[in-house]
Amino acid sequence: MTVDLDLLRQGNRRALAKAITIVESTLESDRVKSQEILESILAESGNSIRLGISGVPGVGKSTFIEALGLYLIALGKKVAVLAVDPSSPMAGGSILGDKTRMEELSRADSAYIRPSPSSGALGGVAQKTRESMLLCEAAGYDIILVETVGVGQSEFEVAGMVDFFLVLMVPNAGDELQGIKKGIMELVDGLVINKADGESINLAKQTMSHYKNAFHLLKNSGFWSPKVLSCSALEETSLDTVWAMVAEYVAMSKDNGFFTSNREKQNIDWMNKLIHELLEQRLDENKQIAELMPSLKESVTNGAMTPYNAAKQVMGLI
Ligand code: GDP
Repeated sequence: MTVDLDLLRQGNRRALAKAITIVESTLESDRVKSQEILESILAESGNSIRLGISGVPGVGKSTFIEALGLYLIALGKKVAVLAVDPSSPMAGGSILGDKTRMEELSRADSAYIRPSPSSGALGGVAQKTRESMLLCEAAGYDIILVETVGVGQSEFEVAGMVDFFLVLMVPNAGDELQGIKKGIMELVDGLVINKADGESINLAKQTMSHYKNAFHLLKNSGFWSPKVLSCSALEETSLDTVWAMVAEYVAMSKDNGFFTSNREKQNIDWMNKLIHELLEQRLDENKQIAELMPSLKESVTNGAMTPYNAAKQVMGLI
């Protein structure tokens, strides 16, 4: 499969879809090809706002993304929707893979929706989504929405690849912070209480103040204090307020340099992660190491060798 990169740069969907398919492929030959493609478009990537959107199943993510996407398209933007689906065979298949989601947005000329890649390759699903994001940017999409759910590491991974990390919640009377894992609150730039409509409007207000208090308790050293808003994705209300928050953040962070330094840091973190994964892959694939392993294990077990010296022997073979 070859990709016409000029067509991709012109925003041709077929060319973009082909390029993403190569990026998502687990074949070694495609990995070489995908890196070539990425290097040739790298200079044209980056010109977008990358917005991560997370929330538990049923919170209204697809309804919200469709409504926000249509709102942004009406503003003249081109919107790409990517997903990091953390589902594993153990979890019972895909969480975000439902084809019928976001029907109206998927028909829009200015939108491109790509379901989550399947797992199993180097760097996992999130790595492919990062690379697909670059391709979408080269194809002229100026807002990239990256959707995920709060399962496993996916939220951390998505927060590490976007400019703004938004978590959706529903109105809830409970004292518990719903579905928010330890460490996630620190990553959140904006929290939006969805389904603030009908009889839930008052409850949504209570939930908002609950989370505002929770954020107050968190130490905040940066230039931005996480904001708490509400909206109704179903009735399409307050989406403009939500977008104004993101736009304000982007403007502020571009102004003070954080936007760029954060992306640089994300890239370096990504590289470091890959170095570790490539090293691990080499370890797993090395036949000499596999042969040596039983005797090393024995030496360590019976105290003839320290674990450190055994590890050094292994490293010497790479
Ligand atoms: P997801 O699993 O997070 O993607 O959630 P969906 O977008 O599929 O929404 C789950 C359910 O909540 C659906 O029945 C939606 O119609 C409903 N829903 C989504 N957003 C709203 C909203 O703003 N208000 C109300 N009342 N219902 C909503």
